[in-house]
Amino acid sequence: MLQKTSHYMRQANLIGGEWVQADSGATIDVINPATGLKMGTVPKGGRAETRRAIEAAAEAFKSWRKTSALERSKLLHKLADALLDNQDSLAELLTMEQGKSLTESKGEIGSSAAYVRWFAEEGRRTYGDVVPSPWADRRILVNREPVGVIAAITPWNFPSSMLARKIGPALAAGCTTVVKPASQTPYSGLAWGALCEEVGIPKGVVNIVTGSAGEIGDEICENPIVRKVTFTGSTEVGKILLQKAAATVKKVSMELGGNAPFLVFDDADLDRAVAGAIAAKYRNSGQTCVCTNRFYVQAGIHDKFVEKLAEATNSLKVGSGLEDGTQQGPLIDGKAVEKVEEFVADAVSKGGKVIAGGKRHALGGTFFEPTVISGATNDMRFTQEEIFGPVAPIYRFEKEEDAVALANDTVYGLACYFYTGDLGRAFRVMEGLKYGLVGVNEGVITTPEAPFGGMKESGLGREGGHQGIDDYLDTKYVCIGGLGL
Ligand code: ADP
Repeated sequence: MLQKTSHYMRQANLIGGEWVQADSGATIDVINPATGLKMGTVPKGGRAETRRAIEAAAEAFKSWRKTSALERSKLLHKLADALLDNQDSLAELLTMEQGKSLTESKGEIGSSAAYVRWFAEEGRRTYGDVVPSPWADRRILVNREPVGVIAAITPWNFPSSMLARKIGPALAAGCTTVVKPASQTPYSGLAWGALCEEVGIPKGVVNIVTGSAGEIGDEICENPIVRKVTFTGSTEVGKILLQKAAATVKKVSMELGGNAPFLVFDDADLDRAVAGAIAAKYRNSGQTCVCTNRFYVQAGIHDKFVEKLAEATNSLKVGSGLEDGTQQGPLIDGKAVEKVEEFVADAVSKGGKVIAGGKRHALGGTFFEPTVISGATNDMRFTQEEIFGPVAPIYRFEKEEDAVALANDTVYGLACYFYTGDLGRAFRVMEGLKYGLVGVNEGVITTPEAPFGGMKESGLGREGGHQGIDDYLDTKYVCIGGLGL
């Protein structure tokens, strides 16, 4: 089974162009969540390994920053090509360590390539300004230059594409990188090292360290060489990193948690809303930060929506991601399953009605049934907490303004969705929702061309779009005087 993927499954860290083990020789086991079996190990690195990676990135920065934007663009296009040339084997590796269906994994590798290609082009357009000067004999230039060494910390739910959104703009801007993938899914992260080597990205430009999150995170945050930290993960860890990065005033980008509402109004196209709901809820088994957490459905369409959503949910095929036709794979680990069980038990104890799924799947392990709960109320835990699993709670509402107020009643502000056939309502509701990403009659909206990111406690900064490279660049104002004009 691993025959095809073995070339990219690196059980070592990449520091300064060398594939190395941890100083102590310690390793972390990597488990396939569909089988519970060990796939292999990765080094358990810590502060010393991270420091060396940062120093290697600083050394590489000296020459990488001097390459032309066109040269970097060409290398990034090659990297995108390499991702696509190896899409099947990279997708298989991703499914084996993460659990999502092969179809979703192929989509993720495709998305990684698309982000890299986008930034290959955006890197050529990081324009500065020539500003009209208030002085006759001076000229004003505004240049944009790479911030230097950046560090990226990424989660297990999109182990490839979350790195594409960080490595892509960093390299395009002329920065060098130290990357820490999540311990549950390190191979898709380490594969970036192998791919970068293959296409000729110089040694030390991309360094990858796996291991103790706390130690690696501390070195990244405290080391003054690192000028920017980009993180995707929980709001809880994001807050810790923000505090630690403050000591050396680093730039920060934070893609944190969400609590996405999905509003269905009486005038919505019911079938379209149900299809959007399935995609926005059960993608990656509900384990994405933009997955719907709360469905608010207007009274007139409520019962029909509940019935159709339950029907569509019951027909989802659960199984190993490697099997043909699988739509929902296992959850990432045992803890995730326990958390989902707790949410369901809490809702049921407060009057919620399970109308689809509701328990561990007959397949055992970390498989969980896609679940719908009707009669959701505000005192249930998932009203405020991120579920990160395949559970769809449905709340009934009467008035548009109530739905918008309930949707906004959360510390999060990442993604939201709503379905309506009324253009005036579409604008009213869109303008009323305090969210960084809004899907109107669409359940999946992420694309490299558009800025992805949250408001409130969902984060800082944007990834993708022309905005996605901004945080990797410093602005330098240059005043040229004494021109004798
Ligand atoms: P998730 O719930 O998606 O795993 P986390 O925020 O716990 O989100 O983890 C996201 C990434 O942050 C992972 O790579 C994880 O190892 C890392 N991480 C967790 N705790 C810390 C920490 N204290 N400092 C730095 N990185 C951390």
